[in-house]
Amino acid sequence: SNGTTTSGLTFDVQPSASRRTPEEREALLGDPGFGNVFTDHMVTIRYTEGKGWHDARLEPYGPLSLDPATKALHYAQEIFEGLKAYRHPDGTAAAFRPEANAERMNRSARRMAMPELPEDLFVRSIELLLEHDGDWIPTQKDASLYLRPYMIATEVGLGVNGPSSTYLFGLIASPSGPYFSGGVRPVTVWLSEDYTRAAPGGTGEAKFAGNYAASFLAQRQAVEQGCDQCVWLDAVEHRWVEEMGGMNLFFVFGSGEDARILTPGLTGTLLPGITRDSLLKLAPELGLPAEEGRISTDEWRQGALSGEITEVFACGTAAVITPVGHVKSAHGEFTVGDGEPGPVTMRLREELVALQYGKRPDTHGWIRTFPK
Ligand code: PMP
Repeated sequence: SNGTTTSGLTFDVQPSASRRTPEEREALLGDPGFGNVFTDHMVTIRYTEGKGWHDARLEPYGPLSLDPATKALHYAQEIFEGLKAYRHPDGTAAAFRPEANAERMNRSARRMAMPELPEDLFVRSIELLLEHDGDWIPTQKDASLYLRPYMIATEVGLGVNGPSSTYLFGLIASPSGPYFSGGVRPVTVWLSEDYTRAAPGGTGEAKFAGNYAASFLAQRQAVEQGCDQCVWLDAVEHRWVEEMGGMNLFFVFGSGEDARILTPGLTGTLLPGITRDSLLKLAPELGLPAEEGRISTDEWRQGALSGEITEVFACGTAAVITPVGHVKSAHGEFTVGDGEPGPVTMRLREELVALQYGKRPDTHGWIRTFPK
């Protein structure tokens, strides 16, 4: 079907003539890893200043043809999103909070002087892609179909006199296996004091491609230090904990009945994660007080050493919830708790995953189901 959206756009549906066979698909779904395998189709929508969004299309997955002077390639005017579709027990395909991703993409768009995409076009793109490629949602435990919406500046020209006047919105999908194939494993993190991810007034709260390009050197440094991930600190004092490479952080204070969780507040320099937001709402319902605040690297170390901080975990769409077991920096290292996944971390993980996979009633209106 190619129903008209409320934005008045009709998708031109061009099914692929070279879809992979069910056998080929099943072979790829066996062990897809993350971000390496793509489905048979993709969505593209064009934007032209003065005309708005036009030429909405579902077409065979394939290369884009870009002039070498395309602005996105030179001036990085490009943003993206990340969310997942899950197969529910009743067979429907379900996306987790796609409206929140649509809204965040539009906040990123405003920051990068790009046009906003109406929410109904964003959601309809997902629906259309799932209609054609829904069989690519893996069914093994903890697997899902990762959805990657993106927007790039397509104007041709090297003038840096202003934003592009034309854009391409696209949606691709990539089956992803369980993030932790051998069960949940705590990560070791590196506190990055040499590099800064985001400064006040900068682009840190946008899901802007350049933020990620600028992070790779620090991530490489973290790996050289024997760590899995780098933790970003504030740009001014190099003291306040902000977030990780692709995940937000939570600190668990106390234990049992007295446990509470804290996550760095949205200061404008960190990404407002949708998993973070979901946990801030979910935790209190489980009897776990949750707050946004500030925590310094000294408070982290002292809290871990005194036992006041019992667990630390990171959260994001890709890995859901990841325990942080060990922390290293230029000044030394320490372990959080006993370095193993803690009960609060695992409880929150279990609740969130159960919701996403349709095994809990959706009391928040977070689940958007699409007919099979
Ligand atoms: N921080 C950064 C820098 C990220 O790239 C991501 C992934 N989008 C997150 C946090 C977590 O956000 P979400 O929960 O929406 O995936």
